[in-house]
This record gives sequence, C-alpha cells and structure tokens, in this order.
Amino acid sequence: MPFDWHQVGTPPASDEIEVTVIGPGFGECIVVHVGLGRWLIVDSCRDPETKQPVALKYLQALGVNAGECVDWVVATHWHSDHVGGIGETLAACTSARFVCATVLQKREFLKYAAQSRVVSGPGTALDFLGAFEELMHRKATPVWTTGGRVLATRAATGGQPEFRLEALSPSDAEFSLFLSNIAGQVRVKGMPHRAYVSTDPNHAAIVLSLRWGSDAVLLGADLLSHSSPDRGWLAAAGQATILLAPKASLVKIPHHGSESAHAESMWSDLMEADPVAVVTPYSRGKKEGRPPKKSDLARIVKLSSEAYLTAPTESGRARKKTSPVAVGLAQSGITMRSLSANVGLVRMRRAAGGSWESALFGRAKALN
Ligand SMILES: [Zn+2]
Repeated sequence: MPFDWHQVGTPPASDEIEVTVIGPGFGECIVVHVGLGRWLIVDSCRDPETKQPVALKYLQALGVNAGECVDWVVATHWHSDHVGGIGETLAACTSARFVCATVLQKREFLKYAAQSRVVSGPGTALDFLGAFEELMHRKATPVWTTGGRVLATRAATGGQPEFRLEALSPSDAEFSLFLSNIAGQVRVKGMPHRAYVSTDPNHAAIVLSLRWGSDAVLLGADLLSHSSPDRGWLAAAGQATILLAPKASLVKIPHHGSESAHAESMWSDLMEADPVAVVTPYSRGKKEGRPPKKSDLARIVKLSSEAYLTAPTESGRARKKTSPVAVGLAQSGITMRSLSANVGLVRMRRAAGGSWESALFGRAKALN
C-alpha cells in the first residue's frame, strides 16, 4: 500500500522543535524544524512507491515550502541508504546550503566516485554527484565540514533560546583513513579492476549536534565505534567536550543500531540519562546480518526511556520459517509486513520548555 503522506497533518508551531526520522526499511532521512519556520534535512531516501525523495514529500504534505524554508541539506556520508534522491532534494531546496565531509573534496574521492558512476550505474554515485551538479548549476560551493566545525548559530530571539548546529565528526584520523582506503580502490590503468566493497565510508560520516539552549539532539549518522580515542565515537565525544555541547535528550541511533556502532562513551558523555532513541533499519544484504538485531534492540531499549523503530528490519517475501530477527521483532511487539507496505515515520515534537511528544506513521513502531 502506498504511504498516504497527507496523514502527517499540520506543521509544528513556530516555537516547536521537531525531529522526524523517515525510514522505509532501506534508507534514512531526517527532517528537523529548528524553530521559527526554518528547516534542516539530513540525508535522503526515496518513497519506495513513488520514488520521490521522502523529505520533499513530507514537507509538501505539511504545506511547508522547501524552496523557502530549508536552510541546510546535509549528506552525512555517501552510502546508498543515505543519499537516494539527495540531488533532487537539494535542487528543490533552492535557498539551502549543502553540507558534506571535507574529505569528499579530495581528488582521490572524486576519481573513485566517477569510476563508481560508470561501474554501478544509477544509484549511490549518481545520486550523490547529483548534489554536486546542482551546486555547479548554482555556482555554489558545498559547506565542507569536519568534526569540530560550528555550522550555524542563531542568537536567542522571540522567547527561543540560542540555536547551534555543530559537527562532531569525522575526526582527523578518520579523514586520513578514508583517503588511504579510497586511494587503494581507485582503478589504475592496466591493473586488474578491484572490487568496490571494502571501503567503509562510515569513517567519514558527519555526526551532528543540534542545541537549543541547554537541550540538544544528537544525530548519529552511521558513525562506528572504535577503541582509539582519535576515531569513531570516542573522537566525537572529544569534540563535544571542546565545543561544550550539552548532553542530548534525543538521539538518532548510529548505523541502524548495529553492535559495531555501540559506544559507552556516546551514551555516557553525549546523552542525558534515559533519552529518547530512534532507529532506522537496514533491510538489505544477508537477513541474519541486517541491523538492528534482536540483541541491538534490547540494548537500545534498556538505555532509553522511549525507543522507536521506523520500520521492521525484515523485508521481501514472507518467510515460512521464523528467523531469529523475526522472533526478536515479534518480542518487541513488531509484526512483519512486506516492504511494499512502504514508508515509516517517527516524529518527535517538543514545545518550548516541554517534553518530547511522539507521533508514529506508517510502518513505525514503539519498542518499549
Ligand atoms: Zn546507513
């Protein structure tokens, strides 16, 4: 069944903050109302039915003019589940700046992306490069960022506290590693073609901290955990300390809830106790390996006061035998439906001085 976008209702009040996480099963997009009618879009995916970018469908359904009201479109990294339709999204958000990781301006990456474009056809590279084509058309440059950059500030005004948008990653160490990974994958004339699978762009993922006064929201992208203080979540926590970022009351869980992205430091250093957590699933690849697993959901539920999943993890044809993932989801109160059942949305809104109020649409489910 196609997702009926009109059910999302009316836009938030001017002084209301909104964080809407959209995940159709494969893909992730976050739409944020930062207050005073201004919006931020982080990553992009398409409505499986109409193939249109979900952020545009959502804002249109709310009656928000994307061309006038969106200030930033951020690509946290260029994995295919985060950039579907991002070029079209940016093209519609005519007054928005495009934010991506500094490392992507390197010649090594551009060579790599250009080769992938030929090799893989429509998909990741085309969608991502579409954003750069749009910028070329506008004669605009991206906002290149790395961990520690303050991307935007707005002074306290009209009863609203000061707003800040800050990047906590990628770290310098992740930057260097990404470059050396990419360099190793660029095809050299006369050499046998190398597979494009071993590079992990999550190294260069942008984690965002959004703060309104002493309250914050953490958007974890797909940043992974690492034992080195210079990498992953330890490095992001280090940046938050330097920026004096307040602890967050709401988190978009990193990397679809996978164990590899779990970091004690994220929960202890970057989050308030018992925050609200939102997870998007990754419904591709081997079914056994798809995050979040049952154990991932159990861990997240334990660490949060409220946890939500935008769509069931399982996808495709109905299975005769019940997989461990299905059992996990069933125990979490989630029933399995075909992926064609479409989009799921978790919307959190917070009035000034109030607490987070959830609204779930489509395939989205509460976990506790
Ligand atoms: Zn992802």
